[in-house]
Amino acid sequence: MSKDITIIGAGLVGSLLSIYLSKRGYKVKVFERRGDMRKEKISAGRSINLALSDRGIKALEEVGIMDELRKICIPMHGRYIHNADGSTAFQRYGKEGQFINSVSRGELNKQLMNHAELHGAKILFNQKCESIDWRTNTVTFDHDTALISQSAELIFAADGAYSAARLQHQLQYDRFQYSQYYIDFGYKELNIPPGEDGNFRMEKNALHIWPRGNYMLIALPNIDGSFTCTLFFPFEGEPSFASLNTKEKVKTFFEKTFTDAVPMMPTLEDDFFNNPTSSLVTVRCFPWIREDRFALIGDAAHAIVPFFGQGMNCGFEDCSVLNSLMDQYGDDWEAVLQEYQELRKPDGDAIAELALNNFIEMRDKVADPKFLLQKKIEARLHEKYPDKWIPAYSQVTFSPHIRYSEALNRGQKQEAIMKEVMQMPDIERKWDSNDVDQMILNQIG
Ligand SMILES: Cc1cc2nc3c(=O)[nH]c(=O)nc-3n(C[C@H](O)[C@H](O)[C@H](O)COP(=O)(O)OP(=O)(O)OC[C@H]3O[C@@H](n4cnc5c(N)ncnc54)[C@H](O)[C@@H]3O)c2cc1C
Repeated sequence: MSKDITIIGAGLVGSLLSIYLSKRGYKVKVFERRGDMRKEKISAGRSINLALSDRGIKALEEVGIMDELRKICIPMHGRYIHNADGSTAFQRYGKEGQFINSVSRGELNKQLMNHAELHGAKILFNQKCESIDWRTNTVTFDHDTALISQSAELIFAADGAYSAARLQHQLQYDRFQYSQYYIDFGYKELNIPPGEDGNFRMEKNALHIWPRGNYMLIALPNIDGSFTCTLFFPFEGEPSFASLNTKEKVKTFFEKTFTDAVPMMPTLEDDFFNNPTSSLVTVRCFPWIREDRFALIGDAAHAIVPFFGQGMNCGFEDCSVLNSLMDQYGDDWEAVLQEYQELRKPDGDAIAELALNNFIEMRDKVADPKFLLQKKIEARLHEKYPDKWIPAYSQVTFSPHIRYSEALNRGQKQEAIMKEVMQMPDIERKWDSNDVDQMILNQIG
């Protein structure tokens, strides 16, 4: 049976989902609020570039487009730390050969749309979901101020963190659980252009971090030789977006705080005041589905803060899990959606928690020698006993076979063990001794 499927939102997740479904022979229509970014110069929204890692890559490989996408990926093998005292340090992410990828959100989205169309999906632009009639499964879109209704046997809401479809679902669902949580920090994107010779002004194959305790600046490379910087900073207080209210204050603050970055940022003050300050939200909700005819996916189901670089990766994994359930249950969509929700809801909750925790690690701990020693011990254990010990970061980033919920549990247990290890007398000297190994192995069981 060829079911009519409507996807709301042609962002990263909606576009990828449309490829999976079209490849299986479904008739797929995707309705996107914005214009066609391949023809008009419009922002892809949110961050300019993102970190793509193994969970996302697994899904892109499944639909057969990862080889092509590698051309627009820049491998980042670790964190390049810019300390407040001017020193720098490189911290490898995982084992030799493991890396995450910086990729342009706009380019990735365009290529996903191209592939979706190649496989027969129809993408309709300037169509804003306004309402859904659940009696007939009909979605009404605002198209150039005219309202157009579209009925579908199955609807996927892939319209992002502020999903209009989710709101329609919520309004007409008894006991719908919903929470949104904003952290007190916002973000602003800034720019480091290429050098005069067109080359990168800093190490290209790394994610740069200026950790400063309560806040941080990060930078990811772009293929044109530039870096997109993101300042994660308090909205209020001192210092904050509110307190840096003149160009002079911005310049003075950056020169004092991010000293080595400033000479590479010729348009800093203009960028600071021209670019928006955006908020960071975590959305949790339940249920994600209605029988065999509606499901939330991607950020619409689970918006998370970006500190683990997993939001898109998690949304891509949603698609991959759905695909494997279609293999299992065929056209029994009630079974597919039910199990999709059972599997993905705990994982969405887990990555939301992991992402919030990772903010503290990135902005503060990566500059702490004790934390670095802990990471060194964990990396050594992983090398020696790869089946027994996988650092939490590697479980999330490089181990798609481990569910997020499992990574959260295992990570918490490992953290408790490491807390004890770090309190051992003289740990700085004997960190690589058999005593330490034995103590850890006894505890893991
Ligand atoms: C600063 C920042 C950095 C990030 N970095 C990373 C990272 O490094 N790695 C990572 O994996 N993730 C990262 N993320 C998360 C990532 O951006 C999201 O998880 C991802 O974009 C989710 O994709 P999506 O398709 O579900 O939603 P979106 O990308 O938000 O796409 C939703 C689409 O729906 C459309 N739409 C919205 N409303 C309607 C409507 N009413 N009708 C029709 N269409 C509609 C939108 O125009 C859009 O095209 C980051 C997020 C932020 C904010």
